[in-house]
Amino acid sequence: MTKARILVLGTGGTIAGAAGSATGGGYRAGGLALAAMLEQLAALGLDAELVPQEVARIGSQDIGWPQWQALHAACLGAMDDLSITGIIITHGTDTAEETAFLLDLTLPTHKPVVLVGAMRPADAVGADGMRNFANAVKVASDRQAAGRGVVLVMGDSVLAARDARKAATAQIDAFKSFPRGSLARVTPANLDWFGPPHRVGEAARYAFPASLPRVAILTAGAGMDEQPVQALLGIGCKGVVLAGMGQGNAPACVLTALADAAVAGVPVVRSTRVDEGLVDRNIEVDDDALGLVAARALGPAKARMLLMVLIAVGITDVARIQAAFDSG
Ligand code: GLU
Repeated sequence: MTKARILVLGTGGTIAGAAGSATGGGYRAGGLALAAMLEQLAALGLDAELVPQEVARIGSQDIGWPQWQALHAACLGAMDDLSITGIIITHGTDTAEETAFLLDLTLPTHKPVVLVGAMRPADAVGADGMRNFANAVKVASDRQAAGRGVVLVMGDSVLAARDARKAATAQIDAFKSFPRGSLARVTPANLDWFGPPHRVGEAARYAFPASLPRVAILTAGAGMDEQPVQALLGIGCKGVVLAGMGQGNAPACVLTALADAAVAGVPVVRSTRVDEGLVDRNIEVDDDALGLVAARALGPAKARMLLMVLIAVGITDVARIQAAFDSG
């Protein structure tokens, strides 16, 4: 088999974070250059050629359309480049789920695309970055990683972008996969897939948007009133995602205001502030009557990303938005 040749796109995050002290608490995300990270990786003797391209050196809380556009363009270029067999994106973990899902929605699936991050800075005691990176190389080098959409490699697990979610602020196994479990188990030495690729030969599901509309997440809280909904409409939101209680619930006055927004042409998706669980249509909320969309398995961050993409490509009809959420 010919040696894997992997494009490595650096964006920053804790995997490129440097504290300057192995035991200190504070650090700067993206402090370490991609080239320095690859030098450390080369010392591990991995059987792949890595082609570095630094896109940014930021904490992923600051990521947005310009970096996403650069990542998407670089991935598309690599998809067309016969010499490149796979792609790795190093990324902060705070918004890894958003970047992974946006690229999952807008890239074809014929080459592996792997997002990788770390929970501990590179110079901390027990840093997880190099192991996660070595795992990512293992995944991106494997032909079986193609045809699965974008995946996230963290803590010896491979998670599908549509399922991955950051569920802890600090521990190294911070990511969960919901509603499906992880796709594979990976170590620098081994890789075991739990099922066959499920998106073989798929084209991009959506065009990459020329810009992204303003879509806000409104978290429901007991005793709130409808004014936050009106404030969001007042600043020109083109869509609203409710991070509701339980199965996407909110006080009646808030639901009425959201239904008014939907009638006025601002799509509203009901997701949940709860960690896990589906939000289905017409359970306690009469979505049919109110003109609302149920987020199903997508949590607020991914629901917002999908709604932004849909609005950007001109899909604003409730039935079509619901169909997109139903297919996750
Ligand atoms: N907030 C930073 C980021 O998301 C650091 C967190 C991390 O990478 O784990 O880039």
